[in-house]
Amino acid sequence: MITVFAGGVGASRFLQGLVQAVDPADVTVISNTGDDVEMFGLHVSPDTDIVLYALAGAVNPETGWGLAGDTFAVVDQLQRFGYERWFNLGDRDLAMAIHRTRLLHAGIPMHEVVAGLARAWGVGCQVIPMANEPIRTKVYGPDGEIDFQEYMVRMRTEVEVRSIAFAGADTARPAPGVVEAIRDAEAVILAPSNPFVSIGPILAVPGVRDALASTAAVRAAISPIIAGQVVKGPAAKMLQSLGHEVSAVGVAAVYRGLIDLMVIDEQDRALAPRVEALGMRCHVTDTMMTSAERKAELAAEVVREARRVPRAMGQ
Ligand code: GDP
Repeated sequence: MITVFAGGVGASRFLQGLVQAVDPADVTVISNTGDDVEMFGLHVSPDTDIVLYALAGAVNPETGWGLAGDTFAVVDQLQRFGYERWFNLGDRDLAMAIHRTRLLHAGIPMHEVVAGLARAWGVGCQVIPMANEPIRTKVYGPDGEIDFQEYMVRMRTEVEVRSIAFAGADTARPAPGVVEAIRDAEAVILAPSNPFVSIGPILAVPGVRDALASTAAVRAAISPIIAGQVVKGPAAKMLQSLGHEVSAVGVAAVYRGLIDLMVIDEQDRALAPRVEALGMRCHVTDTMMTSAERKAELAAEVVREARRVPRAMGQ
């Protein structure tokens, strides 16, 4: 089994490649629910849905989120009743939120809801939310606490992030299957996702970090930072404002002690010795997932390299 810690857009691109490179039945995805949000009384799970849509081949390829060809009539219409329209939820996307909310209200735990959604979309791998309890990512800027989607969507990340917290994490437990997926995997891969707000919430669930530290699986990560920049999103700004080096070395340092293999981009080849000095193997390749072929090649390469790395590297 290959287990992947996943955020949204970066993770889903990698997962699209992984299910071409290995049997999807051998893939388990642990999905970030820290950026879940209540919208119009509905429970929206942006990262989980991006992963499901991408694996179902239904994601909007232009945005990397939402459904291809979706329309926005409902959110447009809701403005008539005074609702704000800063959060783009497509009409077909809303069907997921309605269904998920109804099941959660009926007392079905999140991991069963997500398993059912994955089945309905014909997704061949197992997708597990990190926890069944609500955990909400909060960022703290100069004026205090901000809900994650407010920061990400409404404020377009134009706030200096001084710290990050995961409300509810202290009392949450890993969803059924999460610890097993880490413990019993051949490899655990941290997708090229935001280390702080996509992978960070998963690691904040009590027991997950320990499971990752003690698993016999080889643990690998792919840098979401290429040549000091993000492909998309606030990861570079966060590295900077939280006092880390804005590079693949900075990301590797955040994961130090938790990974055995760091995969960095060709453009960052010169950084490899510094990554290895952190006590992990470094593999250099083209990590820009521009085509279906490149996604599959990258995933195959990460799995192949993980099989070559001795487990003890990250200790
Ligand atoms: P979000 O929750 O939708 O923001 O998605 P993630 O956290 O999963 O992914 C965001 C990260 O993915 C950003 O830091 C991007 O730099 C990174 N990313 C997106 N596409 C690529 C790519 O093709 N290659 C690499 N290496 N990183 C990518």
